Amino acid sequence: MDDMVSTAGLNQWIRAFAELVAENKDSLTDLDAAIGDGDHGANMHRGLQAAVAALDDTKPATASTLLNKVGMTVVSTVGGASGPLFGTMFLRMGAALGDTAEVSLTQLATALRAGLGGVVARGKAEPGDKTMYDALAPAVDALESAASTGVDKADALKLALAAAENGRDATTPMLARKGRASYLGERSVGHQDPGATTVALLMAAAIRAPL
Ligand code: ADP
Ligand code: MG
Repeated sequence: MDDMVSTAGLNQWIRAFAELVAENKDSLTDLDAAIGDGDHGANMHRGLQAAVAALDDTKPATASTLLNKVGMTVVSTVGGASGPLFGTMFLRMGAALGDTAEVSLTQLATALRAGLGGVVARGKAEPGDKTMYDALAPAVDALESAASTGVDKADALKLALAAAENGRDATTPMLARKGRASYLGERSVGHQDPGATTVALLMAAAIRAPL
């Protein structure tokens, strides 16, 4: 069926995410240098290279084992706030999907919703705090509503990407209330959040893969 996503597709998604982070490593670092400590690009790049190597080694056969492997690797190799946050997102997605070789678009949306829940459980971000939440939450909303109205997979992923990009752009005028950027107070205003930028790359990777 057209709206199914195979484990091989999820594998390609993670690889495409690793590629996009590698290509954007320096700009992610520049964004983090402006309102944080300048390590976000390097952090995510290290974790995703390790995740791709772990997938090469273990060749997971189900959605849950694949996302668990990625989550465990990201948690253990990425320092800073983003390691536990992105790692927990992948771990919760894996737990939500269970032992199946193929998942539907609806299941994928449900898994991303669970991943968002993991990010909130870890970091307590609320809407408008200028974090990765502000790109991920609208992307999940868009994917869920596309899946529930029967939009086909390619168009659903485009809607999720557009929502993530709008959410990312909306972080620029926000005042940071979580993470290192919050130490800057008013000086965080006018800068795009690095973690939200990475979430937009995750959604772009779903299209590049393609899922
Ligand atoms: P660190 O801030 O420890 O150096 P990174 O630079 O890798 O970690 O990641 C910073 C990103 O993490 C921010 O841009 C933001 O999107 C995200 N972030 C930080 N704290 C939180 C939080 N409590 N909840 C959600 N996301 C957060
Ligand atoms: Mg940082």
